[in-house]
Amino acid sequence: MRCFEYSAKKIFKNEGIPVPESYVAKNPEEAEEAAAKLGKPVALKSQVLVGGRGKAGGIKFADSPEEAGKVAKELLGTEIKGEKVNKLLIEEKVNIQSEFYISVIMDRSAKKPVIMASTEGGMEIEEVAKKSPEKIVKYHINPLDEFLPYQAREIARKMGIPNDLISKMGTFILKLFNVFDKYDATIAEINPLVLTPEGLIAADAKFGVDDDALWRHNEFSDLEEAKKGEFAYVTLDGDIAVIGNGAGLTLVGMDMINLYGGKPATFLDIGGGASQESIARAITLVLSEPNVKVIFLNVLGGITRADDVANGVITVLNSADHKVPIVIRLTGTNEEEGQRILRDAGIPFEISMEEAAEKAVEICRSLS
Ligand code: GDP
Ligand code: MN
Repeated sequence: MRCFEYSAKKIFKNEGIPVPESYVAKNPEEAEEAAAKLGKPVALKSQVLVGGRGKAGGIKFADSPEEAGKVAKELLGTEIKGEKVNKLLIEEKVNIQSEFYISVIMDRSAKKPVIMASTEGGMEIEEVAKKSPEKIVKYHINPLDEFLPYQAREIARKMGIPNDLISKMGTFILKLFNVFDKYDATIAEINPLVLTPEGLIAADAKFGVDDDALWRHNEFSDLEEAKKGEFAYVTLDGDIAVIGNGAGLTLVGMDMINLYGGKPATFLDIGGGASQESIARAITLVLSEPNVKVIFLNVLGGITRADDVANGVITVLNSADHKVPIVIRLTGTNEEEGQRILRDAGIPFEISMEEAAEKAVEICRSLS
């Protein structure tokens, strides 16, 4: 799971890492409101999961709430390196005296986390790594040992920063490592970590968590990123949400929709052996996509059990206030039980994938 900057900063802040004050905005009005609440010049930062936003024009500044609204209108809906901007982080503009780089990543070949730190923070860190790697301090941590404050200060000293900053930088590095460790992260990066007249502050934040460890971090269950990360999930520009178990079957489901003249709105693979709860989350997830008019749930149970699928469907249909028709193809393991559950609940289903796909396309057509 990779986090947007605003989620990463929320997590960092909770762990005691100073970040600028900010609000998320989904439209120009919210951006204007946020700037008014901050009451000072702001940075408007596109929330996309690609790096190098600054260079790609994804970060702009505004001196007044009105200007923030105007700039937000320009940024929202544009694409940064192929990724659409749906949200902005409206942040107090920080007064930068100097920019540093600190990160912790998992060094897979060394089988250890490595801390990297440099005085050459900012948008050119990749260039620095290539042309003058000696300007980046690297420090491996033995995962079986505790990482201690004096070690963090040693890294700060090696960076070659002024003496009066060493202790503060050490504290920052220690906190970043602790976040990385606590949440089973694959990356925790601050670039730039900036020095302002008020002290050190994380002006940017990148955070990624090992998907195989998400189950033991309930802290993330509310994050938009975590909901998507549970499944292999891609949004497309059609209007029929395709959900299947297994990538192959999900792709075939999309082909069937296309064959009958429809257009898929999602590719969502719930994987093998999905539980009742994860089926319900998958359906809820596609329901949150504004373009979805019909859901095509295509299950050929192997490890996945048809009765779990049926119960998952019922959970959502009983709670959703959003009435989107769902066409279900349900066969495979425990199919008698799964089909009985649906029949008892009055929910129609198909056995044949072709018939189900055709029906989904017909329903969609009748709605538009
Ligand atoms: P990235 O390009 O995706 O890494 O986005 P960053 O958040 O790191 O921003 C890129 C650059 O924009 C930073 O290195 C800063 O130089 C500049 N920048 C970002 N936020 C601020 C801010 O609040 N104040 C000022 N003065 N510059 C900022
Ligand atoms: Mn950055």
